[in-house]
Amino acid sequence: MESNISSYENLIQEKILEKGNEGISQQELAKSVGLSTRELSMIVKRLIEKKVIVKRTVKENGKSVVKLFAAKSSSINNDIYINLDTVKEIPCFSCKLLYKCNNGAHVNPGSCGKLSEWILYLVG
Ligand code: SF4
Repeated sequence: MESNISSYENLIQEKILEKGNEGISQQELAKSVGLSTRELSMIVKRLIEKKVIVKRTVKENGKSVVKLFAAKSSSINNDIYINLDTVKEIPCFSCKLLYKCNNGAHVNPGSCGKLSEWILYLVG
C-alpha cells in the first residue's frame, strides 16, 4: 500500500512539474492520474507537507482558481550529491575569525598566513 502511495506521489509530482508555471487544478490532476479527488487530496496533502508542491490561488478569466505548483526547490530523484571533503580543508571554514575577515578589514584574506600556507601547500 505504501509503495502504491509512493508511486502515485512520484506520478503526481511529475504531472505538476510538467505543468510548470501554468499549474494544475486538483480535479484536472485527479482525472489525469486516474484517482478519485478524495484519494488525490490525501496524496496532495502529503506532498504539501513534504514541501515538494504548493497550493496557490490564481486568477483565470477573472475567477479565482486553486492550483497546484511544484515548489521551487523540488525535484524528482534529481538529488545532487557533492563531495565536500576537499572544500572542508579550506582553513576559512574552521577559522574563528571568519566573520571578521573581509577585504579591506584588519583581518583579511590578503594578509592571512593560514590561507597563504594552505595555498602554497596546494601548489606544492
Ligand atoms: S582568510 Fe584567514 S583569517 Fe580570513 S577566514 Fe580565512 S583563515 Fe580566517
